[in-house]
Amino acid sequence: MNELNRDALSIVRGHYPRAVATSTSVEALFELIRTHCALLPNQLMFADSICCDDVNAIEYPRRAYEMLGPFKLGGLNGLPFAGRTGMAAFAGHVPSEGAVFIFYAPHIGVSRSGPLGSLLRVGQTRLSGCCGAAKAALARLQSGQIVKGSVEDDDYQFNSIEQLFLENKSRILEAGDPLYEATEVTYEEIHRRIARFVAATKFSCRYVVRIGAVLQNGDHDMGSFMEPRHAIISDLASEQTKDVLVDYVSLLETVNAR
Ligand SMILES: [Zn+2]
Repeated sequence: MNELNRDALSIVRGHYPRAVATSTSVEALFELIRTHCALLPNQLMFADSICCDDVNAIEYPRRAYEMLGPFKLGGLNGLPFAGRTGMAAFAGHVPSEGAVFIFYAPHIGVSRSGPLGSLLRVGQTRLSGCCGAAKAALARLQSGQIVKGSVEDDDYQFNSIEQLFLENKSRILEAGDPLYEATEVTYEEIHRRIARFVAATKFSCRYVVRIGAVLQNGDHDMGSFMEPRHAIISDLASEQTKDVLVDYVSLLETVNAR
């Protein structure tokens, strides 16, 4: 790791102590899959459920393209708005000897010079919000503007985030950092939805691998980072689901130390 990367990681770890670069997370994933499933990256059909914000495309880890995909399940702040139908479509694209890999995460900006939830984008001189949708929904929660049940077709994704925040109003508003907490609330909702969609979907391959995390987008020269929350491998042949978070975290540390 060069000095710039080390400096960026230490800034992110000031907020998320177990974060690693997303490039590290992909390398560790490939080792996890080789060990547990005896598969190579090009045998994985990959879906992500992350925010449609362009920063996620700009800071996307290059090695992720060694997998097939990505199929995009996510809309604003990573909620899997493609739904059960999106998951079912994706499931139909898997190589028969391969596996499915799903990565899901809400995101949050981390800047050298500003508060959590902001970052400096390419070509800009002022910080901007990230996730912009989460920050806007939080502002409306704080000022009491969210109306229960109000979800419009023209702003369906944003209104859904508002409703989620309203359901968790006291948890978010009483937290030391409401945006950090709102991001955790969003993570938990994404995790529940992905679990429901996986359970409702027929996969023709043997393994379904899921990693859930909180994604941190740094200033444009910092890159992107993730702090893992779940790592799960389901073996559809033996109908067993294993929690492999401890293994994955240890691989993250090994790769990060290289
Ligand atoms: Zn976003």
